[in-house]
Amino acid sequence: MSDCLFCKIIAGDIPSEKVYEDDEHYAFNDINPKAPTHVLVIPKLHLATLSECNDPTLLGKLMDRVRFIADDLLHLSAGYRVVINVREGGGQEVFHLHIHILGGKKLPF
Ligand code: AMP
Ligand code: ZN
Repeated sequence: MSDCLFCKIIAGDIPSEKVYEDDEHYAFNDINPKAPTHVLVIPKLHLATLSECNDPTLLGKLMDRVRFIADDLLHLSAGYRVVINVREGGGQEVFHLHIHILGGKKLPF
């Protein structure tokens, strides 16, 4: 999607602090972190929002990469939070499916 911010990040047209990449996924530091560690994990395939994705294989792989990045790359051994904001009512601002990994401090509810 040519007008999608996160597609531009995947393509390298907009700079990002890459944390992880494979053929199907990209992960990078959030530009406005809400915790000491705040990473966004995205599929390279453009999907606007979780509600538009009915592919359990894609979602399973995406969640597996979230676990890998949080536990094995970032070593968030004290724990972390995984968040998906869905559409405007859920606080979604960028319409390319993404999963937030938040950690590095005790998170308030
Ligand atoms: P959401 O509200 O779930 O759509 O989250 C979008 C997230 O993208 C926010 O936490 C923003 O801080 C983050 N964000 C927006 N632009 C960029 C960017 N250029 N690089 C990294 N993160 C970004
Ligand atoms: Zn996109």
